[in-house]
Amino acid sequence: MKYRSTRSGETVTAAEALLRGLAKDGGLYVPEALPAPFLNYEEMRDFSYQETAVYVLKRFFTEIPEETLADFARKAYGPSFETRDIVPVRTINESFSMAEMFHGRTCAFKDLALSLFPYLLSWAKKKAGETRRVLILTATSGDTGKAALEGFRDVEGMNICVFYPSHGVSPLQKDQMQKQEGGNVRVCGIEGNFDDAQSAVKEIFSTALSPEEGGDAVSFSSANSINIGRLFPQVAYYVWIWLSLVRSGSIGQKEAFNVVVPTGNFGNILAAWIAREIGTPIGQLVCASNENHVLSDFFATGTYDRRREFHLTKSPSMDILISSNFERFLYYMAGPEATAEAMRELKEEGVYTVSSEVMDRIGKEMMGGWADEAAMASAASSVYEKYDYLMDPHTAVAYAVYNDLRRRGRITRGTHTVIISTAHPYKFPDASAEAIGVPVAGNAYDKLRTLAEQTGISVPPQLARLEHAEVRFPGTIAREGMADFVRAYVREIGKECGKQ
Ligand SMILES: *Cc1c(COP(=O)(O)O)cnc(C)c1O
Repeated sequence: MKYRSTRSGETVTAAEALLRGLAKDGGLYVPEALPAPFLNYEEMRDFSYQETAVYVLKRFFTEIPEETLADFARKAYGPSFETRDIVPVRTINESFSMAEMFHGRTCAFKDLALSLFPYLLSWAKKKAGETRRVLILTATSGDTGKAALEGFRDVEGMNICVFYPSHGVSPLQKDQMQKQEGGNVRVCGIEGNFDDAQSAVKEIFSTALSPEEGGDAVSFSSANSINIGRLFPQVAYYVWIWLSLVRSGSIGQKEAFNVVVPTGNFGNILAAWIAREIGTPIGQLVCASNENHVLSDFFATGTYDRRREFHLTKSPSMDILISSNFERFLYYMAGPEATAEAMRELKEEGVYTVSSEVMDRIGKEMMGGWADEAAMASAASSVYEKYDYLMDPHTAVAYAVYNDLRRRGRITRGTHTVIISTAHPYKFPDASAEAIGVPVAGNAYDKLRTLAEQTGISVPPQLARLEHAEVRFPGTIAREGMADFVRAYVREIGKECGKQ
């Protein structure tokens, strides 16, 4: 299968798309044509998570032999996950379930894609005959950075450099990044928000390095959710959720289910949409936003307007005003010319509006909603009280949006709904304490100990271990310093390569 840009006719192989991340024209790669619905329940009935992943991925990565994909899936979805189910689906009552995507190495859903992605990239590197080292450049709103660092640490032939907004992540998230282990990693905080970090990374990408700067030893790639190697592994878990719901009897084999996704960069929900395109019986698809509700406004008005105040919320991974992956959805709804034009307007004017024709089409595919901080907090405490289930703030935003739509009669009655649970509640100890109504004090780890005593939910070892780990990357720099930071790291990598 070939991949094309969302903005022009540029096409590349899967290997090239994986290595480049971003298309030359600034667009994102998408399959030239999405596969027609191919899911066959009878065939998948007894599939494990790994088998489900291979079944889905082989239709998107047609050049990778099936045994190779199976090997990748076995390695990616193995003991680094706490549960054999990988994504357990907990049915709370007849109306809704929680799909728990936080049982991987970093306790957030990004682990699902980033455990597999390094294998896909290594394959691409070999396939493309790329002999230079690959330097992964990543901007993170909190969770991607850690998951990418864990996925790539000490991977042969690769290095990784992560930038995070110094004031936009939780203390635990900061610890996760500053205390990262591995000989091939760099981490740096920036004075700015996620959008600043992401746009600077995009700029660094578009400037070629001269040989003196290390361009003959190193090539850039990305681990951000714009990479197709992030997107397609995510499609697999929606298929898995379907199988799980049927197996548990929460839905019948021919029945549809709704999905509510707490959304930031639009990668997770785009994967849900693609899963539906290939035959997963998803009914309503709800894009849930926090106070940075650019997307929710777009679904209501057809205007995407990023010219607004940026809010730091308790769901930092959704504090995003430019949802990069939305471009792919727009491409499928409006085509490449309109997408290129909209993206130009967004860059130059900060706003674009789509035609009413396109909006009609979009309205049939998805709906939006948002929850403010108070609604999020009240959702978290009421779900804990009613169902003895603790949600993290991102998941609580999704639940609040679901509950609001349900009350207003906008959710189809009688259709089971799955809330996508994207992070372990203990990644956010203060919000968890508020949800259960118990005061906590001390540092993040003291708070986790109190929470564990109160709720009986034990602290995931991935988080507990951080307490006494060494801080390796304490630095913070200005946004303007990012390019120099990367150049310095490239020189260092170049020197190391020279030595070998
Ligand atoms: C990244 C992230 C999100 C947002 O996902 P997108 O794919 O960027 O829309 C939501 N919740 C958590 C916990 C995340 O880490």
